[in-house]
Amino acid sequence: MSHTVRRIVRDMRSQDARSRGDILERSATDLHGLREANRTLVLNYIRSAGPVARVTIARRTGLSRTTVSSIVDTLLKEGLVREGSTLSAAPSGGRRPVLVHFNEAAGRILGVDLGRSHLTLIATDLAANVLARSSGPFDCDLGAEVCLPVLVEKIRSFAAAWEISWDSVIGLGLGIPGPMDARQHMLVSPPRMPGWHGVDLYRYLRRELKVPIFIGNDANMGALGESRFGAGRGITNFAYVKVGTGIGCGLVIDGDVYRGSGGSAGELGHITIDEDGPLCDCGNRGCLEAMTTAPLIVEDALHAISLRRNQGDAAADRAVASSLLKREGHIDVADVVMAAFAGDAACRAAIERSGELIGVALASLVNIFNPTVILLDGSVARANDLVLEPIRHAMQLRSLSAASKNVQIMTGKLGDNAIALGAVASVIDAAFGPLDVSLGIGQPAQPEQNGHQEAPVEPVENVEKPVRTSR
Ligand SMILES: [Zn+2]
Repeated sequence: MSHTVRRIVRDMRSQDARSRGDILERSATDLHGLREANRTLVLNYIRSAGPVARVTIARRTGLSRTTVSSIVDTLLKEGLVREGSTLSAAPSGGRRPVLVHFNEAAGRILGVDLGRSHLTLIATDLAANVLARSSGPFDCDLGAEVCLPVLVEKIRSFAAAWEISWDSVIGLGLGIPGPMDARQHMLVSPPRMPGWHGVDLYRYLRRELKVPIFIGNDANMGALGESRFGAGRGITNFAYVKVGTGIGCGLVIDGDVYRGSGGSAGELGHITIDEDGPLCDCGNRGCLEAMTTAPLIVEDALHAISLRRNQGDAAADRAVASSLLKREGHIDVADVVMAAFAGDAACRAAIERSGELIGVALASLVNIFNPTVILLDGSVARANDLVLEPIRHAMQLRSLSAASKNVQIMTGKLGDNAIALGAVASVIDAAFGPLDVSLGIGQPAQPEQNGHQEAPVEPVENVEKPVRTSR
């Protein structure tokens, strides 16, 4: 394991231990804690605004130039930053300052999206640039005992196929459907995932893969991914809603994923839509998830098409619908979406009905939570306006206008990578801490140019100023 990766992993372990209450939080006056906080501040400024000159880091963070130089020297030794191209002209015609770059190639991160019926694996660098990706079917119905060894094997062979050395991996993040006990890293009675309740995923993966592991509910990971890298960037209050084989929802409140008291916030799929409706896998009746999911849209569309055929409506029986009927049992919602785009009325109607039901559930969410944006994701979101329009209509109709008038409903930007990228973000947050927006960190970087913008820096006393840590 390289020195750089070892340092990151050690930091994450001590942070993990702190979050598990194994050791006491260091007091704010602790000198070591202060140095660590300043190091984090400098590293995160470089991560977000780099390449940047040392003098700018000092100016923007409020730390002295001596302190910044000492921290940058340490980061250079650790391999987390590198020095590169100089500014084309110095601020006052003097020596050209060398720019400090974040060294995103210093390590690798693995992101895992484990769905009820699929598995997506990605490998990224430390800036979440996707370097490798693999996706395929995965059957969670077989239970954790069967699935976990298969999962570990698939992760290992993915890393081997893409020549990702385990020594370079700073951590693995994993998103999985179902309510999650965030403290225990366990699924709690996940609907339609027999044999997964109470399984200690963290301990198993940690033991087998020997890298830091970060596990979360898939919708929360999707929300985190969109928040860091996608359509949720810069939006402080939004909901991420994933409609596929199940329905999940991640809530971002004041810029952070809200997990609730026990880790199961955002179970939109189990909002009651019809108290006399069909039985849900959670044991209740008429939950949103019992009334509309991707497989139910397919069922609905096929039923309508075959009804139409039985009634001898040959004119309406387009070739596209005919081909769907022939492949019954082997089609998914993507086929229905494609048929709907091609103009098939039954497929359109099935998607619209789904949109109305989702809109009814979202009206409750909007009334309670008043988000700025709702991001729809999952296979059903591929229907785009065909499903978004009925959602918007039903949501507006059934919520208070004060809560809903400014809500935008749109699709996410990261598509099939949202959850895996959120999982990667959970590792990055643990390794480096979230970026601090109040310092301009996390905002688009101001490019360093030839000197003129660089205001002369006042001499700063050689004292480390206390900084806020957002953890
Ligand atoms: Zn339910």
